[in-house]
Amino acid sequence: MDLIIRFLNWKTISEIIILWAVIYQIFLFLQGTKAAYLLRGIIILLISFLVFQKLGLFVLSWLFTKLFAFFVILMLITLQPELREGLIRLGRGHIFYMEPKKEEIENAIREIVAASGAMARKRIGALIAIRRELSLKNVIESGVTLQADLSGELLQNIFYPSAPLHDGGVVVEGTRLIASACLFPLSENPQLERTLGMRHRAGVGLSENSDALVVIVSEETGSISLAINGQLTRNLSPNDLLTILKGQLTKTA
Ligand code: ATP
Ligand code: MG
Repeated sequence: MDLIIRFLNWKTISEIIILWAVIYQIFLFLQGTKAAYLLRGIIILLISFLVFQKLGLFVLSWLFTKLFAFFVILMLITLQPELREGLIRLGRGHIFYMEPKKEEIENAIREIVAASGAMARKRIGALIAIRRELSLKNVIESGVTLQADLSGELLQNIFYPSAPLHDGGVVVEGTRLIASACLFPLSENPQLERTLGMRHRAGVGLSENSDALVVIVSEETGSISLAINGQLTRNLSPNDLLTILKGQLTKTA
């Protein structure tokens, strides 16, 4: 007991909290990025190293020590953009990011569906990417950062034809509208119907290049489509869209 009390002084407690915050931040940060693969590589190297050492295979362990240092340097170089973003986020004080609750996600989905329905009726074109696991950083960087609370009104405001940021697509993450006027990669799938224009190709393209869900409202026909993994489902009613989005985004893991 005495030992525990001596161990739990304010210094160790603050050390534990700081370490936890740093590790948690790294964990959040790596989710769905190439860093996750690199980290897996490093863990495999570390385990192999420990096994070789235990078995007394000294040449191999020596080689692995060298390889390990090389791997760390490689990681620092490859992850330079991510590390920079992480430090910026750290500076902005987003360390204790909380995952949105299921009800909040459902609410965000309802806002997206309501806005899509309203825009479809008014023949206003829209392109809305909803992030899942993989980062949409490149797409976000091509647009204008908003970092706003998502609402149907805001979405309609953005896509209003004469609004300054209506061109391009928006990116939604959880309950936040991250950026607008973003450029999505165009699909080169030759099987897409010729009549589909750039907005639809951009929606399909992003869904081929990431695991994002992309809602597309056609300005010409007022129809709502959804692109998932390169597949475009067209002519959805707002209710269909609600059901699919809920199914895709609120799976209980
Ligand atoms: P609609 O049925 O609404 O007419 P469409 O598929 O026929 O859609 P276009 O008429 O070519 O597409 O739509 C052009 C609009 O699509 C542009 O004004 C722009 O807002 C958007 N757009 C085009 N290319 C991209 C892109 N690479 N990324 C994001 N948005 C894009
Ligand atoms: Mg068109």
